Amino acid sequence: MSDQMDLTAGERTAYRTCPLCEATCGLEITIKDGRAVHVRGDRDDVFSRGYLCPKGTALADLHHDPDRLRRPLVKKEGVFREVSWDEAFAAVQAGLMPLIEKHGKNAVGLYLGNPNAHTMAGALAVRPFIKALGSRNVFSASTVDQIPKHLASGLMFGHPATIAVPDLDRTDYLLILGADPMESNGSLATAPDWPGRLRALKERGGRLVVVDPRRTRTAGLAHWHLAIRPNADAFLLMALVQVLFAEDLARPGRLADHALGIDQMKELSRPFTPEAVEGHTGIPADQIRTLARELAGAPSAAVYGRMGLSTVGYGGLATWLVDVVNVLTGNLDRPGGAMFPTPAHLPKKQKPGGKGWTFGRWASRVGGFPEILGELPAHTLCDEMETPGEGQIRALITIASNPVIGLPNAARVDRALAALDFMVSVDFYVNASTRHAHVILPPTGPLSTAHYDVNFYNMSVRNIAHYSPPVLPMPDDERDKWEIFYKLALIFSGQGSGADVGTLDDFVTAVLVGPATQKPGSPLFGKEAEILAELKLWKGPDRMLDFMLRTGPHGDGFGVNPDGLTLAKLREQPHGIDLGPLEPRIPGILATPSGKIELAPEPMVQDAGRLKKQLGEKVADEPLLIGRRHLRTNNSWMPNIPVLVKGPDRSVLFVHPDDAIRWGLTEDGRAKVVSRVGEVTVPVRITDEIRPGVVSLPHGWGHDLDGVQMATAREHGGVNVNLVTDDERFDPLSQNSALNGVPVRVFPAA
Ligand code: SF4
Repeated sequence: MSDQMDLTAGERTAYRTCPLCEATCGLEITIKDGRAVHVRGDRDDVFSRGYLCPKGTALADLHHDPDRLRRPLVKKEGVFREVSWDEAFAAVQAGLMPLIEKHGKNAVGLYLGNPNAHTMAGALAVRPFIKALGSRNVFSASTVDQIPKHLASGLMFGHPATIAVPDLDRTDYLLILGADPMESNGSLATAPDWPGRLRALKERGGRLVVVDPRRTRTAGLAHWHLAIRPNADAFLLMALVQVLFAEDLARPGRLADHALGIDQMKELSRPFTPEAVEGHTGIPADQIRTLARELAGAPSAAVYGRMGLSTVGYGGLATWLVDVVNVLTGNLDRPGGAMFPTPAHLPKKQKPGGKGWTFGRWASRVGGFPEILGELPAHTLCDEMETPGEGQIRALITIASNPVIGLPNAARVDRALAALDFMVSVDFYVNASTRHAHVILPPTGPLSTAHYDVNFYNMSVRNIAHYSPPVLPMPDDERDKWEIFYKLALIFSGQGSGADVGTLDDFVTAVLVGPATQKPGSPLFGKEAEILAELKLWKGPDRMLDFMLRTGPHGDGFGVNPDGLTLAKLREQPHGIDLGPLEPRIPGILATPSGKIELAPEPMVQDAGRLKKQLGEKVADEPLLIGRRHLRTNNSWMPNIPVLVKGPDRSVLFVHPDDAIRWGLTEDGRAKVVSRVGEVTVPVRITDEIRPGVVSLPHGWGHDLDGVQMATAREHGGVNVNLVTDDERFDPLSQNSALNGVPVRVFPAA
């Protein structure tokens, strides 16, 4: 659909959802003479009601950043040169196809970064490209982030995207483990204005409890902060389960009819008494009992965990146990507890039962690590690039990612990328990773592409639909990301770089629509031609989204429900549509073969044996390194925006005063942090907000490397924490890298 108005002249106001984090805030953007000159929170946005954080205001700076690439680059004799799109795609074909012909499809690896998930193209149009590539060497940021949640949800509920979120606005009791939403704005629980929602919880008499090795801003707001040792949440949660059973506090209520494995959990948790886990968690036994009693006694309660639980050696177990506690306290799937959203763009499952979900369908070549969600774990990416033999990754495609900053053992990643035969990056910066690329294909800027949060409305604390058309027109010589993906798909499917993207778009649409119109009894039965004709109004992800919305729970069903939702109708609502609070979804949402919640899935039970074994072992007394978040940073995405990096140095090491004395460190002095894989020297900040024996360094820094073409990021370089995180430390169950709780040694530095 083309825009009716001239988007380049005069002054006007545009509205769109912020794509920079999972909070999905509505923005009001003033456009003057074709430039976004001012961004503020959209007070009429149905979800965010005017809230935004400093990153939202910086969206315009990101779009207009002079260092953001507008044209493709091809490296010639070691130097990047701007080329036409035709030349760039021809260079991709010339660089990659001979490698595939000689060594097979697995010779080309793929690494997808986190920002990709925040775009419509990344959510909807990347699949045809991955399918055409046909490589098993697919990796993503999921395995340095949230894969434990997918694993736990897949095993318990039958689908890895069936994720329970805290019912923030109605709960009476919120237990947060390893998350700092006051800084991060939340994750795997989409809610604009977490700070306001947490304050509202307290104002209505609710209780907020935070478990974290550091007194974060969120912990500072809480009624109660328990300063746990890193990587001990699984012990704590298992002890909560033990107390619930031992004190006859387990009250699953109606969930008892829909859950299998309750008795098994009682047996499994039996050894994990509060006294037994005290040394591991650093939390006194009486406090663990109090916490369990409070959770059980609250009128409603939700347990929510994030990165501190996920990115550790027991990430899978801890993430699973969060929902085990939610079930045992009767709080899963009830208002005020942990609930499942009903997004407008996905069919609403009504009947319990299904095929269930599996993982480990294949394994990585070198380490034999299992596939999860079609991906191999990021901790083994370098093994696959460096180890010779059939199936070795000789070329890599990176999408919106910066593995040199984001993956453990960063120096090794840097060396491995430099040694590749060929590298292609879909990215709009020459950053620490893409500087190794031979071809860079930059998608158009964030204000020139449409937006709908395909991934995050499925984890939203309210049911919301909000579509934003492009705010600024895309210049003729730029490309939307979906067009880049489809062009790559055409190259890898053998049709060549000259083939037409529109033809593939039609094909992809037909594949989406066809099966839905061939089911006898379906209201869409026999309407394929008619539906395809109607969808011609749109292109690319817009077209797919229109189909998904119209066949979703509020959709018009292509005429079945004439007042229902369509993309055209949603587009007419610049502030979004509020589809109401979350509603109970059990049992219909359950897709396990049993049609029940599998409370004690076999892989979890097996891994609990590892936890039990450690229960009897001595707790090591070595400093442990953890990360931290800041409101103005977003992983390694936006270090080139001056307003986000100005002010005091944030890439500093937090050290407890007692440890500072013990290690001879002084405030504003420097410390050397040493791990198995490397060392960094970093400024010291002495603070009692960190637990003794734990040090903290934020991630997303360290951009001042040769070849990086991001002036501000280089100037405010900072220290890359992943030079000391270890690619050999990971959770053997979920395969997530253990970026938190890394054993280090700390010394004063000259
Ligand atoms: S909280 Fe997230 S979505 Fe909201 S303005 Fe900030 S970055 Fe954007």
